Order: sequence, then structure tokens, then C-alpha cells
Amino acid sequence: MSAPITLIGTGLAGYNLARELRKLLPDAALRIVTADAGDFYSKPMLSNGLAGNKTAAQLAMKTADKMREELRLELLTDTEVSAIDRERREIVTSQGRLPYSKLVLALGADPFTPGLAGSAADQVLSVNDLAGYARFRERLEGKQRVVLLGAGLIGCEFANDLVASGRQVSVVDLAAWPLSRLLPEQAGQRLRERLAAAGVQFHFGVSAVAVEGGEGEYRVSLSDGSVLEGELVVSAIGLRPRIRLAQAAGLAVSRGIVVDRVLRSSDPDIYALGDCAEVSGQVLSYVLPIMQAVRALAPTLAGTPTAVAYPAMPVVVKTPACPTVVSPPAAGSIGEWQIESSEAALRALYTAADGSLLGFALLGAATAERQTLAPRLPAILA
Ligand code: FAD
Repeated sequence: MSAPITLIGTGLAGYNLARELRKLLPDAALRIVTADAGDFYSKPMLSNGLAGNKTAAQLAMKTADKMREELRLELLTDTEVSAIDRERREIVTSQGRLPYSKLVLALGADPFTPGLAGSAADQVLSVNDLAGYARFRERLEGKQRVVLLGAGLIGCEFANDLVASGRQVSVVDLAAWPLSRLLPEQAGQRLRERLAAAGVQFHFGVSAVAVEGGEGEYRVSLSDGSVLEGELVVSAIGLRPRIRLAQAAGLAVSRGIVVDRVLRSSDPDIYALGDCAEVSGQVLSYVLPIMQAVRALAPTLAGTPTAVAYPAMPVVVKTPACPTVVSPPAAGSIGEWQIESSEAALRALYTAADGSLLGFALLGAATAERQTLAPRLPAILA
């Protein structure tokens, strides 16, 4: 019997690919190896589960056993892959060596918090999977004051969720406004005002340098010399694609695992998608690019090489205090922001000299315009 098509990872990338592959290859042997428990969940729910009082178990939409049965998988959970032996076409796992015919890396990304000193720096929590969410809920039990590092998409969502659950939240970010990489200043200031009105305390233009204390009493020192106190410290600073396995196996890596438009790495039998992959120079850590990648990679693995296409994919920011949808202009785009705002809505359009729309940010009631504006945006990868 030939070696199975093997996937590493049971996040949205791994499981959605398995589902599409099963449709195209009903009888093929499919193996998935994952370091986690293998329950199927939607990661975006992690940053709005608290106000809805959802436990980790409630966020798991299907157990690993159910996935195994439904997709007829050989599914190895709690199994870490430590190396790829490309010569023998085997992966080295905590359960031994396993052969593959084609290998797909759906490894996700690691949260990182750069340069934190202090005796309690290792107690700073990140919430990047179901187990991380379970720890977050457990450590939050009976706590009221949270210090949150990072005012990007994930930080703002957690901040909104925490205040909606009745907690006090202090958010620290080096930038001057929230979602600074996605929103123009005026839109960012609107988001800041609305989140502040909901109870979020922002500290912009500073970074956290050290965390001291422990056992529910932490002191976070900031770069301006001030100190914030909290019972829990959560980091939502950033994510780094997991490239270590690929790099150690000699595959081309840059910011992510480098793949071409058919999502093939520098080894023709190894593919990558999701948060770990860099497609034509782009690392897009969102759900919609994963769904586009799945649509291309499933037929490719089934024998019909299919290039991935990325249309414009606006991102919905789950901050009920200020509904926001953003599709930032591509890096290097030349244009200007035109911003109209009222009490209920803010509409920021980034347009080129010829009037073509290159990006947008829609806040409040303006989010209703997403469907009409999105088709006017250029594709990210045509
Ligand atoms: P992951 O879900 O991280 O899966 C990686 C898998 O690889 C895991 O199963 C892991 O166990 C396995 N693995 C890794 N290394 C190994 C190894 N060595 N051996 C075995 N297994 C291994 N995107 C949006 O579009 N909209 C949103 O609203 C949104 N909200 C978000 C909120 C939060 C809190 C977070 C953290 C992200 C959010 N995102 C959102 C981003 C989106 O959720 C991710 O882009 C997506 O879930 C990534 O899926 P993935 O399968 O690539 O990675």
C-alpha cells in the first residue's frame, strides 16, 4: 500500500483541507498528525467567547473522534512532529516515523512577546488555541483587572470582550492608535474613543518592558517609567509563522514557509498553507485566505494543479463597541485617504489618482457598505 497523503495540523487550514480532499478523493488514505487534542473549533471565537460565557469545551464544535469518523482519517492527536526526513519521505513524530506520499504543513503561527524582562515574564498568557483559551478562562476566574499587551486586531477584540464581561482592562501599545497597521489615524481614533467609552483604558506610545509579581498580582513596567497593576497579563502582540520544521528540513523559508501559487514548497512533495505559509511574498493570517488556499490545494493534491487566487478579503474586527471592517491598501500603493464621518459612521476610502479604490476602513453604520465596496477593490493575488 502506498504511503498516505499526510497533513500536519488540525487548525482551520488542516481540517478544511482534509474536508475538501475527502470530497475529491473519497477512497484515498489521509493521515493527520497534530500536537494538540484535535478538536475542531473556529479560532476567531477565542476573542469573543468570554462575554458569551463560552467555555473551551463549548467552543469545540466537533471532537477529534467525530472528525476522525466523519472524514475517515487516520488522526494522531497529541503527537508532535519533530523533523521531516525528505530523503526517506518520512516524518519523525513522538509516536515514531511515518511515511508520506505528499506532505502538507498547516502548522499555524506562534504568539510572541518581544523583550519582556522581569521575574513574571513567563506568566504572561497568550490565547492562540483552544488549550490557551481554557488556561485564560481558568486564570481569569475571580479576577477583575487585566493588563493586555497589544492593540492590534486580536488585542482590541480581547479588550472589548473583557470589558463586556465586566472586567477592567488596560491596553498597552507602542503605536499611537489601535489597529495602527490597518487603520488610518482618524479611523483608529474613532475606534479608540468607542472602546474607551466602553471602559477600555489605553496607554499608547509606550511598550511593556518588564513584568514582576505573581499569583494574581502583577506589576507591568512601561517604557515611560510608569507601572500598571493587574491580576492577569495577556499578550496579543504578534504571531510568527511556524517555520522551524521546514527550515530544519532545508526548505526555503522567509517570513513564512515559502510556497508558490500552487502552494508547493521548494520540495515538490511538500506543500504549506495557513498561518505558517508565505504565498508570493504574502503572509496573510486570516480565515478567508485559508479558504482560498484550500480551494486550490485540494484539487492540486488530487491531481489537477490549481493556482491560489486571493481576491480582496476585508477583515471584520469583532469589536461590538465599534463594528469595524477593514481592507488595507497593499504595501507600496500610492493614493490618499478620504474620510467622511458622522456620529454613527466613519467611512475611509483609499483611492488612487485615477479614482480607483485601493482600500477602505468602515466603522459603525458604514460597515453596511462592505458588500458594495469590496468588489471594487483590486485582487491581492489575481
Ligand atoms: P492553527 O489554528 O494555529 O493550527 C496549527 C496546527 O498545527 C495546530 O493543530 C497545531 O497543534 C499543529 N502543529 C503545529 N506545529 C506542530 C508540530 N510540530 N507537530 C504537530 N502539530 C503541529 N482571522 C479572521 O479572518 N477573522 C477573525 O476574526 C480572526 N480572529 C482571530 C482571533 C484570535 C484570538 C486569533 C488568535 C486569530 C484570529 N484570526 C482571525 C486568525 C485566524 O484564526 C487564523 O488565521 C487561523 O485560525 C489559522 O489557522 P491555521 O490552521 O493556519 O493555524
